[in-house]
Amino acid sequence: MDGRPYIGRFAPSPSGHLHFGSLIAAVASFCDAKSNHGTWLVRIENLDPPREVDGSADDILRTLEGFGLVWDDSVQYQSNRHHLYDSALQKLKDAGMSFGCACSRKDLANAGGLDFYPGTCRNGISQPKEERSIRFAVSKSNIENVKWNDLVQGNQNVLKSSLGDFILRRADGYFAYHLAVVTDDAEQGVTNIVRGADLMDSTPRHLLLQESLNIESPLYAHIPLAYNILEDKLSKFTKASPIQIQNAPNQIYDALKFLGQSEVGIDSPENMLSQAIHQWDLSKVPRSSSTHWT
Ligand SMILES: [Zn+2]
Repeated sequence: MDGRPYIGRFAPSPSGHLHFGSLIAAVASFCDAKSNHGTWLVRIENLDPPREVDGSADDILRTLEGFGLVWDDSVQYQSNRHHLYDSALQKLKDAGMSFGCACSRKDLANAGGLDFYPGTCRNGISQPKEERSIRFAVSKSNIENVKWNDLVQGNQNVLKSSLGDFILRRADGYFAYHLAVVTDDAEQGVTNIVRGADLMDSTPRHLLLQESLNIESPLYAHIPLAYNILEDKLSKFTKASPIQIQNAPNQIYDALKFLGQSEVGIDSPENMLSQAIHQWDLSKVPRSSSTHWT
């Protein structure tokens, strides 16, 4: 810790109901913040209007309340924060850390670069093509190895060369997830990010962005993902049915068990969480990146 007051957050996308996988992330970030006498924020990541489900944001907030996961301060919505992303993008442009890209999906597929940007427009767009999206110039970063000490997964070391120049602003004009999340966490003073291991791949990109934007990096803790053995191994538990407020005590019990915490007796959600905060131990969270859960 660097002495800044602990600020944690839970940042769901309003693309459906809250499910068990997101409950685990919410409970973990909540207990970690509260056991450190910190602030716990909720931010709705509604950056992608086409994927947003009507009523989902309110449904998620009501569910969190029903589970006793009560946030501090007001809920922030990414849809109201475009001016912040715009100014971060401008900073990256000014620092020479971004470039315009004219590649369509078809261009990228033809160049074998759908998963890893082949660098086509890195040194300028060839006329008469026009800019479609804006990318982060990973190649220009001074960092070669992106390192962090993950508070659950241990020391991580990712080669910069394994990351393609990723998108900051999409061809449809919307800001990309990586830029928005880094900007929001910095603006909200977030010091500790506890989230699912499905976002581990994003973290090196976030660390590079923070370095280029002169932002102090938060601490990261990636908790394992829950897989349902009844489902395909590759399909996340996220596809499972939504969690129910009337079943909150059992589901909080299951979430804490999944997180390796000492047992908490079945009680009201508030009492269970208060006991869970008291006994919270991040070092007990399983270190695997996924765990089967029936
Ligand atoms: Zn390009």
